[in-house]
Parts: sequence; structure tokens; C-alpha cells
Amino acid sequence: MTSSPTHPSVVVIGAGQAGLSVSFYLQRLGLEPGSDFVVLDRGPSTGGAWQLRWDALRIGSAHRINDLPGMDAVGLSFETADRTLPAKDVVAEYYRQYEEHYNLQVRRPVDVKRVFNRGTELVVGFAEEELTTEIVVNATGTWGSPFVPWYPGLNDFRGRHVHTTDYRSAAQFAGQSVVVVGGGTSAIGFLLELENVASELTWVTRRPVEYLDDGELNMEDGKAAVAMQDEAARAGRALPSIVSGTGIPRTRRIQSGIDRGLLVARPMFSSIEPDGVRWEDGSFQKADAIVWSTGFRPELRHLSPLKLREKEGGVSVGNGSAWKDPRIFFAGYGPQASTIGANRAGRQIARQVIATLSNIG
Ligand code: FAD
Repeated sequence: MTSSPTHPSVVVIGAGQAGLSVSFYLQRLGLEPGSDFVVLDRGPSTGGAWQLRWDALRIGSAHRINDLPGMDAVGLSFETADRTLPAKDVVAEYYRQYEEHYNLQVRRPVDVKRVFNRGTELVVGFAEEELTTEIVVNATGTWGSPFVPWYPGLNDFRGRHVHTTDYRSAAQFAGQSVVVVGGGTSAIGFLLELENVASELTWVTRRPVEYLDDGELNMEDGKAAVAMQDEAARAGRALPSIVSGTGIPRTRRIQSGIDRGLLVARPMFSSIEPDGVRWEDGSFQKADAIVWSTGFRPELRHLSPLKLREKEGGVSVGNGSAWKDPRIFFAGYGPQASTIGANRAGRQIARQVIATLSNIG
């Protein structure tokens, strides 16, 4: 196998938890970063999607963040990370040191626009450049593909629509009437942060929130949610939200928000009007902003030339790669969309990549 920086055997797209974990194991299994495999990332800096998250988010405020494989050798652990600093900064710095320690040579900012076939090779195209390769590991996460459900009047709203990806800090909403949509930890985090900043706060969820009474949730423990994701990924269906299956840990902060009436959700409104939202029973809430904490979809646009999508709406993924093209691996996809899932994916996928390469050549 002859590899070079422009014709590596493997291209990893994305340097979040999933892409870094795959890279760690590829290197451990004997591939050289920068020539045998090349990692490309669109982000301006290290940290995967974490670098783009809002200022108030802290490590441990949502779920546990698992360490990357081999992170102890770098002298780092999220367990002992400073919880007073923004998670976006902590994760960006940890990943930076990790990439440097393992010399992963991530190329950024590189925004992959398309992956396609040319003869027997795969071509990964970005800007004016392209790389040719045998195998692509797609580890692009979901942050770049925010999801907002459609409601009548959505486009007529005169206020601001703000998805989780656009939320920076509560100060954006000072003195405003805000409706927060969604039943996950992000929505709850926003409500707690907006409590004394917004003039009025309304919380709506599609289903009543299920609170878990034994504290911190490791996302891997949401077995039902993970199984649902796995089933959908294998069947090629669009992936369901992880939040819908895991429940929310009832921390002291959350319980106190429930007790003082802040964290009490109304059912979903039925339509949106230029000045607010209306429920089926005719009641109305004025709104200056609607915050949509309604999740994400996997970011796969750049793979569309490969025509991997099934008619069911998703890509069929089993044992790490696409059924339709076993040279395309998916790390951090579906059931692996947590930091522990991404770590596991790294080991499994790296082994399968090596096995596939030895079959090819
Ligand atoms: P990402 O971190 O999104 O990395 C994907 C990378 O791919 C990005 O750097 C992006 O720039 C790059 N990319 C995307 N498209 C392209 C392209 N076309 N070309 C080049 N590069 C591209 N999980 C936990 O385990 N614990 C938590 O506490 C936790 N909290 C969360 C809080 C929020 C608000 C959200 C939304 C998710 C949270 N998660 C948490 C889930 C978390 O996102 C994952 O666990 C993990 O960080 C995702 O890693 P990833 O590598 O799959 O994706």
C-alpha cells in the first residue's frame, strides 16, 4: 500500500471525539498520521462541536464526558477538569493537547464539500483541492445540521428563531419574552440561565419530561435510546432523538427549578403567529424569541454523491460501515453519538478499516 498526503489510504472527516478516537486507534494499529491517514476538520480550531457551544455550558452540567482513549498519557482527564470554565474552552484545550501529543496533524479549516467515486478510488473534495483515498471515515457529528420542526406560521414569526446552535448567552434575550421548545438538557439549561434575564419565560415540550432520580446519566446507560438509534441506523431510517429515550437526571438544581415553578412545561403549541405562539385551546403567548432546542440530524450532505441514503430517509449502517458501500465508515453515528459511544466506535472502526485495507491490497 503506497500512501501520501494527497493519496492517503484513509481520510477521516471530522476531528471531534469520534474522529480523534478513530485516529488514535489507526495510529496504534500502525498507520502513520499525515500520510497513511489524513484527518480533515472544518472547525477553525480544536474541540469538535464543543468549541461552538454556548458560554454557560460547563463540563458535567449535561452528561458525563468520557476521556478519549490514551488521554491519561497526555496527563488529562475530563473527570478532573475545571468545572468553573466554559466547556467549549476546556474541551478545545484538551483536544489541542491530545492532537499535539499524538501528532495527529489534523488539517483545518477544511470543509469537505463532496465525496464521490472516480473509478475504483474515492475522491474527497474541498475548496479547490481533492484527496484520493481507499477508505473514508465520516465523523462529522450533528452540530452542523440543526433540526427545527415545522409548525404552521413558522415563517411568519416576526421575532427571532434561535436554534441551540445559535444560542450564545442569556444576554441575547435581556428583557424579552422567550418561548423555549424541547425536552432535553439544553432546553433546561437555557431556562435556568434565562430565568432572571428574560421578562417572560415559557417552556413547551412535545412529551412530558421523564426525570431520572439517580443523579448523573452516562449517555451509554440510556440503553433504550441507544437501541432505538441502532435499530434505525441498521434499517436506514432517519435517526430518532437521543433525548427522547434517555430522560433527564433530576439534579438538585433541576429539582429546585421544578419546585419554584420554572421547570414546568406546557404541551406543544399548535401554531405560530407573527407575535407569538398559540395552543389548540386558543390560548396565546406573546414571544420576542423562540429558542428551538429540538435537536439535530447527522451531517451527511457531502456524502450525497455516493447515494447512500435509503428510501426510508437514513443511511443503513451496520458494523460501522454503510451497507451500500463498505468503504464508507461512520464514527459517532446513531447509537455512538455520545463521548463513550464515539470512543468505542474508534476502536471497532479502526480495526475494521485495517481489515478492509488488507482485503483491498
Ligand atoms: P462533533 O464534536 O460534532 O465533531 C464533528 C467534527 O466534524 C466537527 O469538528 C466539525 O467541524 C467536523 N465536520 C463536520 N462536517 C464537516 C465537513 N463537511 N468537513 C470537515 N469537517 C466537518 N455527549 C456526552 O457524552 N456528554 C455530554 O455531556 C454531552 N453534552 C452535549 C451537549 C450538547 C449541547 C450536545 C448537542 C451534545 C452533547 N453530547 C454529549 C453529545 C456530543 O456531541 C457527543 O458526545 C460528541 O462530542 C460528538 O462527537 P463527534 O466527534 O461525533 O461530533
